[in-house]
Amino acid sequence: MNLMKLVIGKPLGFCFGVKRAIDELERALGRYGEVYALGSPIHNEEEVKRLISMGLKLIEKVECLPPNAVVFIRAHGTTPEIFDMVRKKGSIVIDGTCPSVKNAQEKARLLSKEGYNVVVVGDPKHPEVQSIKGHALGEVYVVTSPKDVEAFPAKDKIGVVSQTTQEEGMLLAIVSALVPKSRELRVYNTICKATLHRQETVKKLASETEGVIVIGGHNSTNTAKLVEVAKKEGCDVLWIAKSDEIDEDWLKNKSIIGIAAGASTPDWLINDVISSLSCR
Ligand code: SF4
Repeated sequence: MNLMKLVIGKPLGFCFGVKRAIDELERALGRYGEVYALGSPIHNEEEVKRLISMGLKLIEKVECLPPNAVVFIRAHGTTPEIFDMVRKKGSIVIDGTCPSVKNAQEKARLLSKEGYNVVVVGDPKHPEVQSIKGHALGEVYVVTSPKDVEAFPAKDKIGVVSQTTQEEGMLLAIVSALVPKSRELRVYNTICKATLHRQETVKKLASETEGVIVIGGHNSTNTAKLVEVAKKEGCDVLWIAKSDEIDEDWLKNKSIIGIAAGASTPDWLINDVISSLSCR
């Protein structure tokens, strides 16, 4: 008999941006049979394997594209230069850029056009941050913590945008650190609502349960943020990408467990974890 109670967080799994992108990609695969993606279309290995089995081809550079290929731009978006390069190859472009990412890209461009020194709060290596950076004109600074701001030169005008999956507390801390650095500071909070809702869900689960299982790719930033948020709440967290990563020792002595999932985790993986736990 299973004495463990599961509390399923809501919302859970795919956000509207990822769902929209995957739907478009599946339609393109159905229509053209073979579609190229520049980098992984979603930070979830299991879902990528499923898409590869449908005809998706992963490449890292535009130079590797064959002529007249069908190219999918992932939800994280890309830079205007890459768009141009892809079009010059005669490719058909399927643009899966999430509207919330487009908003952050447009705000970065607007700020730079209006003479602000643009600061992007986020992970400098993340493709979304690179795509936002690529839309601004001139120099762009990427900061990950208030510490990065200490060495920041004072500027007349500083404009801030955020990676869409950033934690709100971190954006606030960085903005506070920037106040003494500038006479004019304009901030666009470009954290997307899907991210905020999932972080709030995790906080609630952390307070209501003895531990939270967060399901999501180990390369997924939004999943990592959920794990971070749960830990900050003092919660015992288990981060798994799929059901065979469930740790029996972690489950021991827990009678109520919360289930959360990153915005790039497909329903079929979440359901698999829930059924596996329900059978214990
Ligand atoms: S997490 Fe937000 S910004 Fe990222 S794809 Fe989903 S909806 Fe778009």
